[in-house]
Amino acid sequence: MQKSMGGGILGMGNSKKMVSSEKPDTKFDDVAGVEEAKEEVQEIVDFLKYPARYVEIGAKIPKGVLLVGSPGTGKTLLAKAVAGEAEVPFFSVSGSSFIEMFVGVGAARVRDLFEQAKKDAPSIIFIDEIDAIGKSRAAGGMMGGNDEREQTLNQLLAEMDGFGTNTPVIILAATNRPEVLDAALLRPGRFDRQVLVDKPDYAGRIKILKVHMKNVKMDDDVQIEEIARLTAGLAGADLANIINEAALLAGRKSQKTVKQADLFESVERAIAGLAKKSRRINPKEKKIVAYHESGHALLAETTVGAKKVSKVSIVPRGLAALGYTLNKPEEDKFMMQRHELWAEVDVLLGGRAAEEVFIGEISTGAGNDLERATDIIKSMVQTYGMTDVAGLMVLEKSRQSFLGGGQSAAREYSDKMAQEMDDFIKSSLDEHYKLVLARLEEYRDAIEDMVALLYKKENITGDEVRDIIIDFEDRNGLESKVDVVVDEIAQELKEDAKMVKDIPSKDD
Ligand code: ADP
Ligand code: ZN
Repeated sequence: MQKSMGGGILGMGNSKKMVSSEKPDTKFDDVAGVEEAKEEVQEIVDFLKYPARYVEIGAKIPKGVLLVGSPGTGKTLLAKAVAGEAEVPFFSVSGSSFIEMFVGVGAARVRDLFEQAKKDAPSIIFIDEIDAIGKSRAAGGMMGGNDEREQTLNQLLAEMDGFGTNTPVIILAATNRPEVLDAALLRPGRFDRQVLVDKPDYAGRIKILKVHMKNVKMDDDVQIEEIARLTAGLAGADLANIINEAALLAGRKSQKTVKQADLFESVERAIAGLAKKSRRINPKEKKIVAYHESGHALLAETTVGAKKVSKVSIVPRGLAALGYTLNKPEEDKFMMQRHELWAEVDVLLGGRAAEEVFIGEISTGAGNDLERATDIIKSMVQTYGMTDVAGLMVLEKSRQSFLGGGQSAAREYSDKMAQEMDDFIKSSLDEHYKLVLARLEEYRDAIEDMVALLYKKENITGDEVRDIIIDFEDRNGLESKVDVVVDEIAQELKEDAKMVKDIPSKDD
């Protein structure tokens, strides 16, 4: 009471008035095509609804969750849906709005925001574009820095540390550039959880289109599938726009319903408009990416010691990656055996080799793969004593760059050794590349099947990849290489169990 009556100069003491909340009626059903993300925030809803359950049992609930994804993928929508499902107040601010404030105002506003949210707890604070205030100090500091930004960030960190895990206030923040965030923000007890809000695949786009068609009168001639096909690479916000634009077109023509032709025209406009500012999949690149990723996936599944595939995608992620193959982190691995490192080299070479075999020409898309493959072999030689080149002699100490940056210490081995290492790396890559090419030739039709399925679905699961390969092997009477990998894991478990049994127990 006293405070709000104070009213300082320029109304700064009244910043509290700027903090307002809403109670959104958005529900999870309104957010489509991001099932995994929804699953991950589900427990937050539960916590906000029944905080006592968790507090009594002594569970620590995350304070901060970072929603990561391209613009328009539904991060704000998802945050609102969490509040809507939990029926709690939703406090929303945008990181970029802090930058233009007078010094001190941003920090004061953060303080008020948290004060209010705690008073109204359980509640949600949503910070959009958190990178605007949370940019790494190291990265952004050179140009004199931004005092206001820094003060705001410090205040935010202080607030997050200031309330206990028992207070049912959850801070959701959104960014499409997690890599620029200050490490301090990502520490435990702050934004220590990341939820990926991806661009939708084909099935996801159909779901999103359906959500947005619900309140629009659609003609019977509308084929959602066709629209979904045409909009690969677009985000949920683009799809929502397309439907609205089509409705406007139909209205202008005094139609009673939105026809397929309207949607078509709207898609064309959207794509023409987006072509300039964002990356759309162009058909030629899509083909290259599909074969490249299938190459990685095939090698991953048919090489003993390689990590298994969990997902292959040709949906572009951010601006850098055109497609990707995710490998399952089967268990947290803290060490790798030599054959596993070689397996990883093969998997990395699989992308480039597939381009050569199936496209007949190579692209720049494999640059990063080749760099990683080269690094792996180099470490085997100079750090892990895994090759005959240097034997057990360590040429490079494990890189703890306490000097900061990428300065490397003076080389402590002979030119001859350097030469031998270079020769070894090159000849190993050549040799492995040949084997990888041969594997791809052998499994040609399996790759074609994978590519066909990728074209149809854009995202395919590891199980689908394995089914395709096993199917191909069956048809051709080949002994399954996939089974070998599966057996190996079973074998490891058996041996593990045996080792335990073999240790005489004290109780015996
Ligand atoms: P972001 O915060 O990721 O930039 P928004 O949540 O602001 O994206 O999305 C803007 C609008 O686009 C939403 O209000 C909604 O109408 C539509 N939209 C985006 N993603 C989805 C989705 N996954 N499902 C349904 N609608 C979506
Ligand atoms: Zn690759």
